[in-house]
Amino acid sequence: MPDGYYLYCDVSLPVPLDQPFTYALPDTLRHRVREGSRVIVPFGARRLTGVILQCHDDPPSVPAREAMRLIDSEPVLNAELLALGRWIAGYYCAPLGEVLRGMLPLAAEIRQGKVWSLTESGRDAARQLILEAGPDDPATQVLRLLEKRPLSASYLAKAVPLADKVIRSLERRRWIVAEHIRTERDPLRAPSERLRIGLVQSALAEILPRLNKAERELHAFLELHPGTHNLKDLEDTVKNASTAARSLARKGVVKADLEAVPIAAGAARAPHTLNQPQQAAFEEIHAAIQRNQFHIFLLHGVTGSGKTEVYLNAIESVLAEGRSALLLVPEIALTPAMAGQFFSRFGDRVAILHSAFTDAERSGQWRRIRSGAASVVVGTRSGVFAPVSNLGLIVVDEEHDGSYKQEETPRYHGRDVAIVRAQAANACVVLGSATPSLESRYNAERGKYTLLELPGRIEARPMPAVTLIDMRQEFLETRKQSVFSRRLLEQVEQRLEGREQTIILLNRRGFSSFVACRSCGERVECVNCSVTLTFHKRDYRLLCHYCGYAQKVPELCAKCASEHIYFLGLGSERVEEELHHAFAAARIARLDRDTVSGKRQYEQILRDFREGSFDILVGTQMIAKGHDIPNVTLVGVISADTGLGMPDFRAAERTFQLLTQVAGRAGRGSLPGTVLVQTINPDHYAVRMAAAQDYQAFYEKELAFRRAPARWPWR
Ligand code: ADP
Ligand code: ZN
Ligand code: ZN
Repeated sequence: MPDGYYLYCDVSLPVPLDQPFTYALPDTLRHRVREGSRVIVPFGARRLTGVILQCHDDPPSVPAREAMRLIDSEPVLNAELLALGRWIAGYYCAPLGEVLRGMLPLAAEIRQGKVWSLTESGRDAARQLILEAGPDDPATQVLRLLEKRPLSASYLAKAVPLADKVIRSLERRRWIVAEHIRTERDPLRAPSERLRIGLVQSALAEILPRLNKAERELHAFLELHPGTHNLKDLEDTVKNASTAARSLARKGVVKADLEAVPIAAGAARAPHTLNQPQQAAFEEIHAAIQRNQFHIFLLHGVTGSGKTEVYLNAIESVLAEGRSALLLVPEIALTPAMAGQFFSRFGDRVAILHSAFTDAERSGQWRRIRSGAASVVVGTRSGVFAPVSNLGLIVVDEEHDGSYKQEETPRYHGRDVAIVRAQAANACVVLGSATPSLESRYNAERGKYTLLELPGRIEARPMPAVTLIDMRQEFLETRKQSVFSRRLLEQVEQRLEGREQTIILLNRRGFSSFVACRSCGERVECVNCSVTLTFHKRDYRLLCHYCGYAQKVPELCAKCASEHIYFLGLGSERVEEELHHAFAAARIARLDRDTVSGKRQYEQILRDFREGSFDILVGTQMIAKGHDIPNVTLVGVISADTGLGMPDFRAAERTFQLLTQVAGRAGRGSLPGTVLVQTINPDHYAVRMAAAQDYQAFYEKELAFRRAPARWPWR
């Protein structure tokens, strides 16, 4: 868009009203506004950040308010991304303003918030109330906290019970007022392990005598040990280093930067020479890239067939054309190992968009991409919005994965958005999977996608042998309702002796799956979703794994009032406990959403497991995806059946994918793998075909089943 001089701009705001709003431009902004830049505007009593859709000179029918501040001198969304945003808004019926906000990782750079503070009469009331109501009254607590300093509602909500209600009533009495604040994110608020500090050489000498003891000690240490240091590490050596470093930074004596994210630390690896199927797949993709034409490939390669190597080669040929490439991976699969392969191949041309990054890191990466410094982007779902120019290829790895679907507004499917974006850019798309989604496989069958196949593992390594264990039979023979079959215990024992590793999958979190009444069989279900609630022992509550609803364990059955409530089924917590009983000497780690709160912790556990610090890894589907750990030779699935009872027409497909993927974790190194799948539905086609690792048979069966019109369309 040419530079111009405009009187008005139309702004898309993150509000449910789905329309642009026209604002007048003050003198100072008229020649600076650009389509695709962010601007701060008044909206009702609030200030909002929106994206400029259009600049013009047509006065609106009602007088327009004035825009307040332009955030970006260069557009953050170019014409291509604005068009993509419009498509998403239309296709997924979402307000454009919310879509655009979701496309920018920069939304959080400026924190907009509301803080509450006391009015004069509030101050008097605070003193009065403390005398009358006593210190335990929630209103008194709020007033007392606010006497010290203004606080956000979320802070108050944590500190005081019923804070919301109290705040509303205090506001009505005009004892407190809300103030809107905007603060730039302060890196000094990051936790110590995320900060790297060093001395500022030019620090003013006159400040030094005025430092307190801890500050002086830290200063002295840094003089003795030049360079930069991780603040967490310093805490072990220098007393109160954390506080001292932050205050020294505010005084300009120390500089503090966010740590570079250790995701680059994957092992470097020389490129492999492609084997014949890899080479054939690559050549087809390469030819399409040369033609500069939109084209979609479905790369169907069994687990361990070397799909990543094909991606890397395809990306290389895109870069050779002077174009750029995006690789999308499922939320959980973007591990240091994956990123490391990209760094060792493409060096600092790689940018990573990872949800574990801080806002500052994410916008740092984002800016590198926009400036063209990075032309290979590896990211999760929202990476599809990376502002690369001259896009040549988008790879969607594990394209069947559910995490490509964004469940909150704006809802979208990363794979579908990738295809639309590539089409607009005349780029190629490679969808890769060992278990393609039925819709993708169907599109390949209809000729919409070109199917490329990697039918075997690299170096002709065998697929793992999968054995089904009928747990009904096991019960008949042992007369015991046990978690582990005798066969599985035996195999784990062998692995422990042979110093090989085991993965145990249980597709359910929690201690014991559910709670039922022994008299009438009634199960406790979620009030929102009618899904059976899962019992979590740690906080002794029942949780809905769909919507997050939580409740106490009832004492009486809601249906028949009997007291015979008991626990059925099992969860990963229980499995871990049983494993400890069975193998006292084994080192066991557990990976599920209860044990890992952040991505870093998740990566830590995986790294430790890969390095051999644990013998057995127990977990939910988080452990099924993408990992390449050569020493794992046994995979045990506690129950193949848990997913099958879900009220979802994709239940069979999910079960098939999960079992195939987790089986694919075994025997990826030079040692062959064994997979034992315990089930009470050994005849279910999803279980049977996953055991046979027969995707084709499953695809045909499921397709025929879904032809029933009620289950069409796919989405
Ligand atoms: P997939 O994603 O298909 O499950 P990966 O891409 O993780 O498989 O590859 C599995 C393993 O095979 C990796 O350790 C990779 O380095 C190795 N590999 C890939 N291609 C080759 C090749 N042509 N020759 C030897 N090893 C290869
Ligand atoms: Zn629910
Ligand atoms: Zn009952």
